[in-house]
Amino acid sequence: MDAQGGKDIGSASPAGLIDTHCHLDMFDDRDAVIAAAREAGLAAILTIGSDPGSNAVNIEICRRHEKVYAAVGIHPHDAKDFTGETYAQMKAWIDSSPPAPGAARKIVAVGETGLDYHYDRSPRDVQRNVFRRHLDLARETGLPVVVHSREAKEDTLALLADSGIRKGVLHCFSGDRETAEKAMEMGLYLSFAGSLTFRNAGNLREIAREIPDDYLLVETDAPFLTPEPLRGKRNTPSFIVHTARRLAELREVSPEDIARITSLNAQRLFRVGEPAGEGKIAYAIRDSLYLNITNRCTNKCSFCVRFHSDYVKGHHLRLSEEPTADELKKTIGDPSAYREVVFCGYGEPLLRLDVVKTVAVWVKEKGGSVRINTNGHGNLIHRRNILPELEGIVDSLSVSLDAQDEETYNRICAPPFPNAFSGVVSFIREAKKHVPCVQATVVETDGVDVGKCGKIAEELGVRLRVRKLDLVG
Ligand code: SF4
Ligand SMILES: [Zn+2]
Ligand SMILES: [Zn+2]
Repeated sequence: MDAQGGKDIGSASPAGLIDTHCHLDMFDDRDAVIAAAREAGLAAILTIGSDPGSNAVNIEICRRHEKVYAAVGIHPHDAKDFTGETYAQMKAWIDSSPPAPGAARKIVAVGETGLDYHYDRSPRDVQRNVFRRHLDLARETGLPVVVHSREAKEDTLALLADSGIRKGVLHCFSGDRETAEKAMEMGLYLSFAGSLTFRNAGNLREIAREIPDDYLLVETDAPFLTPEPLRGKRNTPSFIVHTARRLAELREVSPEDIARITSLNAQRLFRVGEPAGEGKIAYAIRDSLYLNITNRCTNKCSFCVRFHSDYVKGHHLRLSEEPTADELKKTIGDPSAYREVVFCGYGEPLLRLDVVKTVAVWVKEKGGSVRINTNGHGNLIHRRNILPELEGIVDSLSVSLDAQDEETYNRICAPPFPNAFSGVVSFIREAKKHVPCVQATVVETDGVDVGKCGKIAEELGVRLRVRKLDLVG
């Protein structure tokens, strides 16, 4: 089928994507469009209001279709038509959602609202006033806000900052790095649409590559902004897969990873889709299997994701109990099916040295490859040189160096051991004698001199990998 029904993506689509912004009210054949989206594996759709008529239609659509949700708002283009009555109507719609006792809330956000200084279809002062009214409504109802901002970066950020609203999304993000950073500081998500796939979107792709997982959403803005390679056709929610794939390429993860990450974010922000499960003990990212064997760690790194989230790449990792060696083996299944099996934990795996050794021996027997991501405290924790014990059962070690000197290390990682930094350096030096592949890592953060860390790694004869902020261990 052609783009009208959106079936051309078939089984190549990662299941579970949520289109967080489209306008189903603008489709005459909306039932077919929703059916096609379902067939393409989408987990939920948010249909966004733009004028009073569209709000009424969207509410009706989401009442009739499961997993379709609505946002009510007046687009900045139509701000000139906004009255006190509009506000009261929107408030009444929200107050009467859910439509029936026990039913899920169907109106999940306020928007779209914001500022559009590109088309200026409403006077700018009117747009600002109406945007403020939407922010009032979001505050009053506790719902997140869906923000449209075009060529109005400063006013958008200033009005958001003044409002104190900390729950929302900059939809169809097209701003610069500064806007992205300021929005994330306010706790707002950034949603990427088909424009990410356009040929001239180099700067946007840079930002989409770099922002942390925790702020990422994906949308279509259908029927507008058809992604490549389908430009020229009418956009539908099913086409979201093209933007998701582009995001996956940019961020060097799989489309399934993008589906999981962005859907979890959508669920958190809008309370739609499936709730997250219990803490996972094994999870795949790309072609590696990561083992989450402990949530304990000897460090308290300032950038550690476990202090502000229970999730890594959309996987829920907060354990209620640490897994045994047998549970780990059962969960791994066939270790040779993965490029490597990585002991990492949402914490320090070498705190559980015996379990690591038992499972590593088994992985090697089954033809798998073993990596450990560690903070390099193994010898400090066990008060002996444990590295000879890893010989022959560990193929690769990735050690967090994290700083260029003791002082910086103490400040960033807050270790419990005196001289922990020199302990980490000796751990790396010793590791080289027993493990075939050893690398050091450093997280780009304030006060870390990546150049100096590179020199230390060079002297130790290991490669230095510079990591972005959203990784653990
Ligand atoms: S970043 Fe790694 S080493 Fe630092 S506290 Fe978190 S788990 Fe521990
Ligand atoms: Zn918009
Ligand atoms: Zn829109």
